[in-house]
Amino acid sequence: MSASQPRTETSPRISDEIRKTTCYMCACRCGIDVHLKKGADGKKHVAYIEGNRDHPVNHGVLCAKGAAGIMQHLSPARLRAPLRRTGPRGSGQFEEISWDEAMEIAEGWLRPLRETAPEKLAFFTGRDQSQSFTGLWAQAFGTPNYAAHGGFCSVNMAAAGIYTMGGSFWEFGQPDWERTRLFLLFGVAEDHDSNPMKAGIATLKARGAKVIGVNPIRTGYNAVADEWVGITPGSDGLLVLSLVHCLLKAGKIDLDYLARFTNAPVLVDADPRSPQFGLLLRGESGRQMVIDRRTGRPADFDAEGVEPDLRGKLRRAGVTHRSVFQHIAEMYLSNDYAPERVAGRTGLDANRIHRLAAEIARAAFDEPVVIEQPWTDFRGVRHERMVGRPVSFHAMRGVSAHSNGFQTCRALHLLQILLGSVEVPGGTRFRPPYPKPATAHPLPHARSAPGQPLGGPHLGYPQGPDDLCLTDEDTPARIDKAFSWEAPLSAHGMMHMVISNAHAGDPYRIDTLFLYMANMAWNSSMNTTQVMQMLTDTDADGEYVIPRIICADAYSSEMVAFADLVLPDTTYLERHDCISLLDRPISDADAAADAIRWPVVEPERPGAAGVRPFQDVLCDLGAQLSLPGFTEADGSARYANYADYIQNHERRPGIGPLAGWRMGESGVAHGRGGPNAAQIDSYIANGGFWRGEIAPDARFFKPWNMAYQDWAVRTGLIDGPQPYIFSLWCEPLRRFQLAAEGHGRRQPPEHLRARIRETFSPLPIWYPPLGDDQRAPDAYPLHALSQRPMAMYHSWGSQNAWLRQIHGVNPLYLPTALWQEGGFAEGDWARVSSPHSQITVPVAHMAALNRDTVWTWNAIGKRRGAWALHREAPEATQGFLLNHLIHELLPPRGDGLRWANSDPITGQAAWFDLRVRIEKVAAPRVSQPAHQAQASPVGRGPRDVAQKVTR
Ligand code: SF4
Repeated sequence: MSASQPRTETSPRISDEIRKTTCYMCACRCGIDVHLKKGADGKKHVAYIEGNRDHPVNHGVLCAKGAAGIMQHLSPARLRAPLRRTGPRGSGQFEEISWDEAMEIAEGWLRPLRETAPEKLAFFTGRDQSQSFTGLWAQAFGTPNYAAHGGFCSVNMAAAGIYTMGGSFWEFGQPDWERTRLFLLFGVAEDHDSNPMKAGIATLKARGAKVIGVNPIRTGYNAVADEWVGITPGSDGLLVLSLVHCLLKAGKIDLDYLARFTNAPVLVDADPRSPQFGLLLRGESGRQMVIDRRTGRPADFDAEGVEPDLRGKLRRAGVTHRSVFQHIAEMYLSNDYAPERVAGRTGLDANRIHRLAAEIARAAFDEPVVIEQPWTDFRGVRHERMVGRPVSFHAMRGVSAHSNGFQTCRALHLLQILLGSVEVPGGTRFRPPYPKPATAHPLPHARSAPGQPLGGPHLGYPQGPDDLCLTDEDTPARIDKAFSWEAPLSAHGMMHMVISNAHAGDPYRIDTLFLYMANMAWNSSMNTTQVMQMLTDTDADGEYVIPRIICADAYSSEMVAFADLVLPDTTYLERHDCISLLDRPISDADAAADAIRWPVVEPERPGAAGVRPFQDVLCDLGAQLSLPGFTEADGSARYANYADYIQNHERRPGIGPLAGWRMGESGVAHGRGGPNAAQIDSYIANGGFWRGEIAPDARFFKPWNMAYQDWAVRTGLIDGPQPYIFSLWCEPLRRFQLAAEGHGRRQPPEHLRARIRETFSPLPIWYPPLGDDQRAPDAYPLHALSQRPMAMYHSWGSQNAWLRQIHGVNPLYLPTALWQEGGFAEGDWARVSSPHSQITVPVAHMAALNRDTVWTWNAIGKRRGAWALHREAPEATQGFLLNHLIHELLPPRGDGLRWANSDPITGQAAWFDLRVRIEKVAAPRVSQPAHQAQASPVGRGPRDVAQKVTR
């Protein structure tokens, strides 16, 4: 080297210490290495975040959000002390108070409610990753009014999966990345399972497997798909049932799989005069019955050695029974589902649908995947090898967030199952604790009584009208009307209806709305402008209609400004969390796995009362209120904090929030075992996670594989083997339909009878999104969608100095024909009108877009004053929400009634049913509607963010 060359430090030491924890910049739960460096103050500060190479979720991969976690942790929008409202609601005017005062106020509000009317507390959480804990707290309080945000996210996808096949996608299911040859994505949002999905798609591409994206918009995963199918929104179910039609017609279905592992051979009462019409035939043991091909006689479906006959028929006690499979053939071979019939509605060419069906059939049946691994099924039949169909699927919000979403998601599962491509080599595989059928989940509980805990979990999977959550007067027991006749299978609750129902006093008034991490005054509500009005409305006495609002959040969101009391949470690097098998773990198809977060840095908010992990606060509040499960017999607190709960709580004997490093009879054990005081330390030493592998003979065919069933019992996922068959015929739906036809003790209200009859088909159907029939077809010709960008997680990203550079504004994207016909040019603005409202926003051109669809990124637009942003920040001046255009109710029907803008089966918010028209207008100064600025309780962030940790 020449002496004149500068000396460059090529490998500077970037940190003094690395602490391994779990990312929370989206729902994906990747492992991260947090690099800490000693600062000038002698304390350790976060200097850098990278992926944990040993972590089972991401294997070292880190996305832009994950790396930008440092900016989330340092965000100027962080709250720093408990706040008591001093100005009018929504103004953002607060005073900082001490934690003692805050806890005293909270207890003072909540104690009388618990003692007199616990249902007057509505406790709803947003993107909470501790639902098994927050739900337990609400259960101990005794309110029936608890849920997280699933009702406005993707409950259709989750509930359809669980009712149909006992499992779903995202963190509960995955393609067999190593073996699948054709992968179809439907309407995917990119914040769940994000890094595994990206790595999986890369694996497929490296192997030459084909990826097909079905989505009106070609972004994200669809942008890298080999083929993009730009379907018209809300018509996915029709496309899928048309594919089913083609496959049935061509005989390209897996008859053996259907006969062995699904209810296709189960006998159905086929007599329209029978009160059991449409229900499955059961024997004396209560088990579903099939015709056994060996004897030609009826038998329990799971009897030893039975060979179910797909063409079974039985006449018994004057009633004819026919197999589910015969109903399937009759229904889907109808020409109503022929590609030529559905082409117009889906926006796709009939030939293309034929070709897609042929391609799926080829991939599934021409080259089955074979693993030379014997296994034994629940009928005692030994299979010499594992044979699979290498076609797999993934879907989420895009197909889910429609009023026909539940049946669309069921249709997708029907297609998968007809192909025999679920839980087989090459297909879609479940991740523990799934598979778990709907019947193995709890029923919902909603009976509240003063001073008493609720009798069981709030959320569950009703099997028929008897399981609804109704009062003795048959009115909804829950404030959101979940599990009522308006949404019988609302397995995740209906958070989007809470504020409007509470405001209307329908079904009753509440006293306190308690929200955790839920931005309900902005991007997490439909009808945002009116929701803000509802939160500030007063009654004749001048009191707020919703008397009290408590918000727990880490950041100064739009919703925080509407709270009367704010409980400031920590960032994800400052607290314990538990990514639990009781909740939404990090398992993969070959292993059960869970993880923790732990305080890699101490929370510091200099000069203020400071922040506390919300879960710690709930432990303390639970003890102050003497809630069962949170208090010892002598009245002392059972848990010192959430870490104490994580280690010592047992849901059932030997089963706790974390499965790793429990105390067995002869030392440390995994899965089952007693509490272990060193459990969290063991997780930390292992990089923040635990993973327990499934043996090779148990890795596929899990619902029917006795080796898996036994492993699941040993691991504590279930208490006894519970093999089951997939429910192509969804009997709970038929029970509700029967009630609507006039059978049974519990009857739906008259105004819902026809809707239940029409939409609760036990076999998947497609119907136009509700509300389509109430509009003049040309009045609102366009579909309007919002999509979650990969670089943002909900509203959190817009406070992040690095991520804001990727998405600081969100134009409304227009397809080419609309762009040209409307004479739009770069920099133009448009007025967008829905049947409910109008917005005025910037537009941009996008070619890879369904011709009848406009769209934008979700949750980029911000209200002035929120998130510590500058008042002229682009998010507040050009950013916008489509939410203003969406009402939580459908337009009036002319009979004095308005239906919820939700799926009639699950209550899922139908965000994506939005229809609009647009016109070019002169650019206003800021996007419309522009709301008055909120005062910021945390001040304003600096113009330039600079952060350097020195040593
Ligand atoms: S995908 Fe999600 S969890 Fe993983 S690194 Fe990115 S933000 Fe974090």
